[in-house]
Amino acid sequence: MVSVYYKCRMRWCPSSVLHLLRCLRSRSCCRRGRNNRLPPWIRDTWAYMTVLARSLYFNSLTDSDVVFDSIFEPVFWTVDYVTRWFGMVFVCLVVLLTSSIVVIAYVVLLPLVLNTYSPAWIAWHVCYGHWNLIMIAFHYYKAAKTCPGYPPTEKNDRPFVSVCKKCIIPKPARTHHCGICNRCILKMDHHCPWLNNCVGHLNHRYFFSFCLFMTLGCVYCSISGRNLFLDAYNAIEASYQTPAPPYTFKDKMINKSIIYMWVLTSTVGVALGALTIWHAVLISRGETSIERHINSKETKRMAKQGRVYRNPFSYGRLNNWKIFFGVEKRSHWVTRVLLPSGHAPHGDGLTWEAHQVKKDLIPV
Ligand SMILES: [Zn+2]
Ligand SMILES: [Zn+2]
Repeated sequence: MVSVYYKCRMRWCPSSVLHLLRCLRSRSCCRRGRNNRLPPWIRDTWAYMTVLARSLYFNSLTDSDVVFDSIFEPVFWTVDYVTRWFGMVFVCLVVLLTSSIVVIAYVVLLPLVLNTYSPAWIAWHVCYGHWNLIMIAFHYYKAAKTCPGYPPTEKNDRPFVSVCKKCIIPKPARTHHCGICNRCILKMDHHCPWLNNCVGHLNHRYFFSFCLFMTLGCVYCSISGRNLFLDAYNAIEASYQTPAPPYTFKDKMINKSIIYMWVLTSTVGVALGALTIWHAVLISRGETSIERHINSKETKRMAKQGRVYRNPFSYGRLNNWKIFFGVEKRSHWVTRVLLPSGHAPHGDGLTWEAHQVKKDLIPV
């Protein structure tokens, strides 16, 4: 056998290859013969363990995506774990920063407004400021505390478009799996670390209203506090001159508070304003953030085939907004949009009417 092997290495002709294969086959047969001599219980246990080991990784549907997911599973797990943990930190940060602005508004700004402004301006600032604060607090609480909506796990007759590979349950249209919540979410938009919650069918409106009213509040503070900020900034600059103006400790703290408030509200106003505009564009199109990616890919794919893609869940710009806010009559624009309202969203999030034929879904 060894001499045949070396001969093969030396001269690689078809007849010698055949001879080598024959030798290898006879050796494996011998080995199998030895296995057969083993007690049956060992052979059975070995066969059972082999099937068990193969059942752990063998899948006829395995493709490159599954292999990629499996290799990077520890990385995804770490990111999800850190995001889950940081969720509470982000929520505390939002509450702390918002509370600090409210404290400055009450302790520093309100006395200034009451002492220097006309009664009409005082009424405007007191009414608008409190309305905006109530809207921010209500929508933030509801967005963070409302469950985003989960598909049913028990057997049902509802139509579905696919099966979640992680939850092993049917996925209705617009449902996606959130790796951080580790659940399927109805009409999932995204997982928001600032809310420590997923944004889905049941809390999408609260999330958007929070972004909108927080942006309005920041812009309001930034615009109305602009002159105070400039005065405070000049006063701080002047304090570095010699001789320094006779500012008391209280004056310095007031000036620093005003600068802190203006810088924070202006920065958040710009960043959150951009996010709010982006979400407003998505709502006008009847899309979620996830569907934006899917739809843009689909649009490009169909354009190559000379066809035009149409979003099946868009019912026209105005109707999309009415459905989003749950506006069913004119007064709802005030009671359901401009005032705190806990009404349920349109539809159950499980079934969606695609390609609406009727133009005006909700007659207003
Ligand atoms: Zn899932
Ligand atoms: Zn989530």
